[in-house]
Amino acid sequence: MQCAKCQETIEETEAREMHGQTLCEDCYMSALSPTRTCDPWAVHSAKNLLKGQGSHELTQVQTQILSILKETGGLDLSNLSERMQISPMDLERDMAALRHMEKIRAELREGKKVFRLW
Ligand SMILES: [Zn+2]
Repeated sequence: MQCAKCQETIEETEAREMHGQTLCEDCYMSALSPTRTCDPWAVHSAKNLLKGQGSHELTQVQTQILSILKETGGLDLSNLSERMQISPMDLERDMAALRHMEKIRAELREGKKVFRLW
């Protein structure tokens, strides 16, 4: 038999019934806890990280971060967000991705966390 959701072939013993559909164990579990699959940002960022690791493709924002850091020799997050006119919270995601790719790193200068090129 087949899972109604992912079309995976499943053994009868693994089959689960929900709303009259036959589901595999995985789909049944995620149907039971929809919050697990309803976090588009988590999925999105995980995909982006994987993509980044594979191809080192940079987003426009990330490219801009790199060029500003190159030009200035290093900036802290608040100065950087001011320059880019992007909120620090939004910026942090790209910073994290860039750090993950080892494009930039943080260092302490006079007690302040400053980002600079790797
Ligand atoms: Zn399934």
